[in-house]
Amino acid sequence: MKFDASHLVGLVGAILRAGGSTAAEADLVANHLVVANLFGHDSHGVGMVPTYVTDLHGGALRPGTAVKLDKEDGSILVFDGARGYGRVVAGEMMAQLIERCRGSGLVLASLRNAHHLGRIGAFGEMAAEAGLISLHFVNVHGHHALVAPFGGRDARFSTDPICIAVPRQGERAPVVLDMATSRVAFGKVRVAHNAGRRLAPGLVLDKAGEPSEDPAVMFGDPRGALLPFGEHKGFGLAVMCELLAGALSGGGTMQPETPRDVGVLNNMLTLVVEPGRLIDLDWFHREMEAFLAHAKASPPRDPAHPVLVPGESERLFRETRARDGIEVDDMTWGEMLAAAESVGLTRSDLEAHK
Ligand code: NAD
Repeated sequence: MKFDASHLVGLVGAILRAGGSTAAEADLVANHLVVANLFGHDSHGVGMVPTYVTDLHGGALRPGTAVKLDKEDGSILVFDGARGYGRVVAGEMMAQLIERCRGSGLVLASLRNAHHLGRIGAFGEMAAEAGLISLHFVNVHGHHALVAPFGGRDARFSTDPICIAVPRQGERAPVVLDMATSRVAFGKVRVAHNAGRRLAPGLVLDKAGEPSEDPAVMFGDPRGALLPFGEHKGFGLAVMCELLAGALSGGGTMQPETPRDVGVLNNMLTLVVEPGRLIDLDWFHREMEAFLAHAKASPPRDPAHPVLVPGESERLFRETRARDGIEVDDMTWGEMLAAAESVGLTRSDLEAHK
């Protein structure tokens, strides 16, 4: 089924309002999810709505919750997301960091206990929009582990993402590296499973810890594990996400004493820097553009796939999907309908948005 982005925003917004959000909150979160679909990240798009609704029912997600500044020490800030919508609490935190960074040139903040933050690139883009560089380390907790350590057979932590965003001058889109530390985000396995597709080799292990291409291994009991990207190096970055986002924020790492049946919670460590405090901005931007052009000019091994820089594939997806619509597979659509019904909407309420 194909949807126009604005229709999907309306539909998801209706579900979130029925789940207890104000119109403004529902619209913000719905947009965040649909932009993830537009950017090609169906793993973090509207397919998350059933999980959000489950977490609303279970109390892991609390609509109408604002971020709380718990502690302030110079340019170091400690925030608590209190299980509010990740887009809301992290967005409020980013607004405060951007404001403060204009004064000090450098701000470091931790955010603990936010509900699912979704596409982390959104927060990097906020900083970039203000001409600032940002780094984000995120860990996931509150639910079962999904990713095996390098060399291990079973899942011990989650898809812990990292984002680094650098602004560019004028109308140019920022350079945004935004990635899970697993070879693929879990949601991409869910999307393949829902669509009845096999996975590429090297992405998952089955329940015995052997390589598999079947997405169903991630939905069995016992389940399999995703693999970290880049072998020991991706695993090393995931360890750092657990330490910097999970331990340093106070939100917790994924270790046996941390509850696993709460919902999808995220902690994040964020560093925001004003580049003009380090270097002449004109030189910085000239140097960056020269490097990006140089890298992109490498002759492609496959002419159909020219070299892209981080953030570019998302813009290409957006061009196509804004024009052609966003595909929602039947299983995801069915799960969204069930979620909507569980918050009191009728099927015809939703069909009206199609
Ligand atoms: P991905 O593998 O599609 O992309 C990762 C990075 O590589 C992006 O910066 C992208 O611009 C770049 N890229 C993609 N194709 C490229 C190419 N051909 N050449 C050069 N660069 C290229 O992303 P992913 O790892 O599957 O992550 C998907 C999303 O999931 C991200 O938005 C991430 O923040 C989100 N995520 C969130 C959580 C959470 O708990 N909130 C957990 C995991 C992932």
